[in-house]
Amino acid sequence: MKLTILGCHSATPRTNTNPTSQVLEIKNHMFLIDCGEGTQVELRRHKIKFSRIKHIFISHLHGDHYFGLVGLISTFRLLTRETELHIYAPKGLKKVITLQMKLSDSWTNYPLIFHELDSKKSELIFEDDKIEVHTVPLNHRIYTNGFLFKEKPYERKLDMKAVLKANINMAYFRKLKQGADVVNEDGELIKNETVTLDPRPTKSYAYCSDTKYSEDIIPIIKEADVLYHESTFLNKNEDLCKVTKHSTAKQAATIAKKASVKTLVLGHYSTRYNGYSLFKKEAQEVFENVLLAKDGVSFEF
Ligand SMILES: [Zn+2]
Repeated sequence: MKLTILGCHSATPRTNTNPTSQVLEIKNHMFLIDCGEGTQVELRRHKIKFSRIKHIFISHLHGDHYFGLVGLISTFRLLTRETELHIYAPKGLKKVITLQMKLSDSWTNYPLIFHELDSKKSELIFEDDKIEVHTVPLNHRIYTNGFLFKEKPYERKLDMKAVLKANINMAYFRKLKQGADVVNEDGELIKNETVTLDPRPTKSYAYCSDTKYSEDIIPIIKEADVLYHESTFLNKNEDLCKVTKHSTAKQAATIAKKASVKTLVLGHYSTRYNGYSLFKKEAQEVFENVLLAKDGVSFEF
């Protein structure tokens, strides 16, 4: 699982900082998460092939999370893309994008498929044989979702020594891997756990931006390997969280701790700050394993 931060700042694009966008590479997918201004330039900078992006997840319709989208859609068209593009976003985005395409008479020559979201409950929005994506309803000034990307469980491993000893016909190996008990050549029932080993653990990534401190998300993101939680402010500006419905680094760390995640990645920093080491320091007073997102940085988990 590889996470590339294209941008991790709030509000406006500036010379050296980009608004929110990131790419999650997991099980052969390149999922684009949010698409602030400048995203397509950053994709090029990181040599991420446009054709590999087939699914885009937009958390909410504040500009710093999606103003790069219409440009990206338009560039895909100019590059004569043919493959489908799926966009998962709050209801209303389709209207915005189609109006822009209509007025410029620039309809895409590839299928553009909108999956508009309006549920306030977590829902499964994408699934294939290896992965699931669920929404994480967040509490922000407008309708907002985070996203939980989760590998599906792997098959159990055969303990070949035990399998041979138990005299099980090869025809049953598939069933064993799927967790079933089977009958051996002597007609005896063999309990699955006596001849198989636990599968390799699955990985998960929870993206939660933008949101005020909300413990409602804990059951959904519980024990995620990695949690990206916004930390727009430091402690000294905690009062701004109430008005803007954002979080401090310490609040993000509290969620990480209560949800028992393995790693917390902080981001969505307010552009009022010049350095970010204090974000880490304040978060680590609550939760040890903290990484700071930085524009252009990749993490492998
Ligand atoms: Zn926002």
